[in-house]
Amino acid sequence: MMYHHQNQNENGSLERMRINGDIGSNSPNSIRLLGSPRGNHMPDNYEDLPLDFNHIIFTSLEKYLPSHVINLSRDLKAHYMSNILLRYLPHSERIRTQKHKEYRRKIMLNYPPLHKEIYTIHSENFFAPSFLRAIKENTPASFRSIMAEPARGIYTFEMFRPQFCEMLVSEVDNFERWVHETKFRIMRPNTMNQYGAVLDDFGLEAMLDRLMNDFISPIARVFFNEVGGSTLDSHHGFVVEYGTNRDVELGFHVDDSEVTLNICLGTQFSGGELFFRGVRCDEHVNTETQSGEIFDYSHVPGHAVLHRGRHRHGARPTISGNRINLILWCRSSAFREIKKYMSEFPSWCGECRRKKKERERISIAATQEELLKRELKSAS
Ligand SMILES: [Zn+2]
Repeated sequence: MMYHHQNQNENGSLERMRINGDIGSNSPNSIRLLGSPRGNHMPDNYEDLPLDFNHIIFTSLEKYLPSHVINLSRDLKAHYMSNILLRYLPHSERIRTQKHKEYRRKIMLNYPPLHKEIYTIHSENFFAPSFLRAIKENTPASFRSIMAEPARGIYTFEMFRPQFCEMLVSEVDNFERWVHETKFRIMRPNTMNQYGAVLDDFGLEAMLDRLMNDFISPIARVFFNEVGGSTLDSHHGFVVEYGTNRDVELGFHVDDSEVTLNICLGTQFSGGELFFRGVRCDEHVNTETQSGEIFDYSHVPGHAVLHRGRHRHGARPTISGNRINLILWCRSSAFREIKKYMSEFPSWCGECRRKKKERERISIAATQEELLKRELKSAS
């Protein structure tokens, strides 16, 4: 078996990327505290931050922060501690949901959109003609005709028109400018990106819902049926930005989604390749990569990558320029419910599949040996 150490990001334990503040069933095991407090540490004051918990809790908790967090900015430390607190105080979920509603309402009341025309889907203006034809035809063959599958379970295809990409990028810029000018406290899209914006938070939720239902579900039904691709019923849509003054790279992780759509919106950049390292179930998320599972992909503006949320991946550093991607996490509540009761091994996990094959190989070898013994006996 081969194990490739091609990228720093792939070593050590893999992260589960989540929506900020989301508790989930399997919180990242990388988030933890020290067993005993630091004696000589002077904690920050958190009084003026809009937090879900009393600021005193943050001040007292800070002494327990691990060394890779203790010297980060006050905001990042608060964010880290919030994630821990939310894990242990599930009743706060209701408060969080309520706060998030208020957060969205505040944006919707005050943020003036730049391009109203992208808030509702206009197929001809949004999508590449080839993509639109395949969706209209709505057959496995029509999807296959526009797609490449450069590695098992990873589909790439041209999706958006350049004009739409430009408009979406400038809308996001406009939103960021508004956030900056009004000193609005923005929530970042997930636990791993420090830049980027949740599109659902500033008015694009209905548009993205239609994008999932009418344009991604038909494809997911065909290619990702065994991970809930035919029962997608909710989404989390956001943009991430890489490059100068932005996130540089993205560590090795799995998404909190059944199916992930990742579309490059532009603009000019070098580097920033995606690296994929095989699909894994919860139990096998940190197991070795097999040689056939190694795949790197360079983004093309307007083009989409569609993959399972459990397909382990990350992004290499964006060396120059800026790269903006639209990410749509598509989820199936039905699949998540069914998964709890599944006793069979999941056929989509590379490691489960490998183990099953190994067991079969051993059992065949044992049978052959037994037969050989019998033959020798009857011959003598
Ligand atoms: Zn497995």
